[in-house]
Amino acid sequence: MKYTIKLQIDGRAKRVSLRITPYGEVLLRVPKGVDVRRALAWCQSNNEHIEQTLRDMAEQGVLRAERTKEEIEALRKVAKVKLRKALDEASAKSGIGYNRLSIRATRSRWGSCSSEGNISLSLYLAELPDELIEFICLHELCHRLHPNHSPEFHTKLNQLVDGREKELLKMLKKHRIG
Ligand SMILES: [Zn+2]
Repeated sequence: MKYTIKLQIDGRAKRVSLRITPYGEVLLRVPKGVDVRRALAWCQSNNEHIEQTLRDMAEQGVLRAERTKEEIEALRKVAKVKLRKALDEASAKSGIGYNRLSIRATRSRWGSCSSEGNISLSLYLAELPDELIEFICLHELCHRLHPNHSPEFHTKLNQLVDGREKELLKMLKKHRIG
């Protein structure tokens, strides 16, 4: 069985991990500073597991076809308005500002926040329920205070979502990005 490995160098990742997307791609996430060849070797050692997962996904009919350019552009239009509004509302609610917002066709993560306070959101986020969009926006805004996932970060985030962080995270995990 053939598959594509997509390599992603991730400054926030703590360990090498792999994830299979609904498109049948293998996303290999590698922390900064880890030897890429070693990460690839590790990925190859998981070949059997990957192939089995892909076969299972094919059997269950959960492998998706790629979206067309037109579909992505249509979603981008919706996302630009919807996500900007959601981020501004989350910013007002939390009292945490941000610099710039960019919306990209990212399938590796829902959002990210740079040290300059620029927030990037995946346009696929626009397809999620409103409370999850708000949750992601608040998560990224919290990174303006804590550029990590420290206990302080989670305390702040949990406070902003009225103690529902775990519940919302569970809901979020039911959604595959893209
Ligand atoms: Zn984060």
